Amino acid sequence: MLARPRSLDEWQTFFDTMFRETNQRFHREPDDFLDRMSEILGYVTSEKHQQFNTENYRRFYAKFVAWSCGFITARGARLSDVMIQRFPGVCPYCLKPDCILNANPLASPHKEIDHGALADKITPRVRTTMERLDLEGWRAELFKIYTRNYHRDIGVFVDKVHEEQSELRYALRKLKNGSDADQRRWSMIVKHEFADVFAWFLGLGYHVFFRTQPWQMLIRKQTLDDIVFAPYSRGCPDCEHEVCDCKDPDASLRSSLSSAEVGLSHPGGLELPFPGAFGPMIIIAGQIDMTFIESFNNSANMFVEGVQPDPSLTDDDIADIRKMMNQIATGLAGRDLSPTVFEAICEWFKRKGGDVADRFKQFLTNVRDGLVANGLWEIVKNTFGGMG
Ligand SMILES: [Zn+2]
Ligand SMILES: [Zn+2]
Repeated sequence: MLARPRSLDEWQTFFDTMFRETNQRFHREPDDFLDRMSEILGYVTSEKHQQFNTENYRRFYAKFVAWSCGFITARGARLSDVMIQRFPGVCPYCLKPDCILNANPLASPHKEIDHGALADKITPRVRTTMERLDLEGWRAELFKIYTRNYHRDIGVFVDKVHEEQSELRYALRKLKNGSDADQRRWSMIVKHEFADVFAWFLGLGYHVFFRTQPWQMLIRKQTLDDIVFAPYSRGCPDCEHEVCDCKDPDASLRSSLSSAEVGLSHPGGLELPFPGAFGPMIIIAGQIDMTFIESFNNSANMFVEGVQPDPSLTDDDIADIRKMMNQIATGLAGRDLSPTVFEAICEWFKRKGGDVADRFKQFLTNVRDGLVANGLWEIVKNTFGGMG
C-alpha cells in the first residue's frame, strides 16, 4: 500500500514516480497528455457514465487527474503553482475572495484579468497555505470563492469543463504557432486555462460523488483524494507495479470501457444542498452494515424519483420529502433515529395518501431490516396497518 499524497505537488510527484518511465517508453509528448485528458473527459462527462457513481467511473475520474499531473509535469511546471497563480484565494476576475457574482449573478460582467493585481494576491502566506491543499482542499477553496457552485446543476460543470478544455487547446495551439515574444504570453495562458479545466473538474467530482450519493460517501468518509487514490493505492492499476511496467498502453482503457457497458444501477438524484446537511455524524468503522446502506440508498433514490412526477405534490412537498428521507438516512446510519420523528414522518405520508403513501410503504418494506434493527417497525405497523 502506497502513501496517499496530501497536496497537489505530492500528487504530481506520485504520478510522476509511477509513470515517468512508461511515458518515456511510449515516447509521450506534452500534447499526448492533453489528448488523453480530452479522451477521458468525454467518458467522464457523458451522461451515460456520469450518472453512475461506480468503481469504473471513479477510475476514469482518477485517470484524468493522473494525466493532468502528467500534462503539467511535461510542461515543466508545478501543479500547485499553476493553481495558485490562477486562484490565489480570490476570483481572478473580480479579485475578491467571495466572487461578486455569488451575491448577484447579474452583476456587471467580469472584464479582462488584471494579471499584475492578481499576482499581487500571492503573498507568502497565501502561497504556504495553498501549497498544502490537497484535491478536496482545492475543491473546497474554489467553492469558497464561488459559493454558488454548491447549488449548481452537474450539467453546468460538464459544459464548463468542456468549454475550458477547448480554450486550453486553443491556447496550446497559439503557443506552438506563435512568435517568441508571444510564446511567453501563451505559455502563461496555457497554465491559466489548464487551471480552469482542473477547477471545474474538481467541482464536477463534488457533484457526482457527494451530491448524488451523499450518505454513502459521508459514511465512508471519502474525499476526492480517496477516490483518486483508490485505483493507484497499490501502484499502477494495470500492471500492479509501484513503478509502472505496462507493455500495452491501452489495456486499462479497454477493460474500463467494457465494464462500463455492463448494466449498472442508476443511483438517481437525491440532492442535498451540501454534505454537512447530514449534520455531524460520527461513524465508527465496522458499525455500519454497508449492504444495508447500499440498499437503503437505492430504495430511497427509487422512491424520490418515483414520486417526483406526481402532480398532487408541490415543489415544497418534494423538498420536504427529501428532507425527511435525509432524516431517516442520517438516523439509521447513526443508530439514533428518534421514534417521535420517525412517527411524524410516517404520519405525513399517511395524510398525503394515494400513490405517494403507497410508494412510501413500499420503500419502508425495502428497508425493513434497518427499521426492525432500530425498533421502528412497530411504528410502521401502527401507522399503516397490515404491514406484516
Ligand atoms: Zn468574480
Ligand atoms: Zn502499469
